[in-house]
Amino acid sequence: LNPVKENSKTYKHFNNLTCMENTLVLVKPEGVKRHLIGKIIQRFEDAGLKIIGMKQVWVDNEFSKQHYSEHVGKAFYESLEKYITEGPVIAIVLQGVNAVENVRKVVGESEPKSSPPGTIRGDFAHMSFQHADSKGNPLKNLIHASGNLEEAKKEISLWFKDYELHSYKTMQDYFLE
Ligand code: GDP
Ligand code: MG
Repeated sequence: LNPVKENSKTYKHFNNLTCMENTLVLVKPEGVKRHLIGKIIQRFEDAGLKIIGMKQVWVDNEFSKQHYSEHVGKAFYESLEKYITEGPVIAIVLQGVNAVENVRKVVGESEPKSSPPGTIRGDFAHMSFQHADSKGNPLKNLIHASGNLEEAKKEISLWFKDYELHSYKTMQDYFLE
């Protein structure tokens, strides 16, 4: 049995009728350097989301432009590129029912100031757009999460090969069936 082949085959079995989705999360270098990886991952595990891929990657400027292609050219882009390339990130693919929306809910708003307590960006940061922009800084918000399903598909294929994603059962699956 070739586990790589087996996993990549089973990973693709979802169809349009299910609400089962995969989404990309990045613990940005700030989160890694602040030793927040465990606490951040805990939030997703607590919500019953399944980790189907995870690795540590230090991306370069070119890769940042691919990942943040929609933001290249904006006033804050240069600072954002510096922020995402200043150290390694933890890249995670999470799977679950309406995972894109559910993960964004756990993460909070783009702006930590507007993110309520209980969200990752609200609990571990408090920065505002205004302050970040007045300093020429990126909005330091610790974490990236795909904004919609289309973005999730594009980002997962940019960050992960099919064979790096795994199909397996967790306790949560018994409640979903
Ligand atoms: P996200 O999907 O919630 O991460 O937000 P966006 O896709 O709109 O922006 C990507 C990242 O760029 C954000 O997470 C912030 O780190 C940064 N960013 C977005 N908008 C601004 C802005 O207006 N000013 C600054 N300084 N940074 C921003
Ligand atoms: Mg976004």
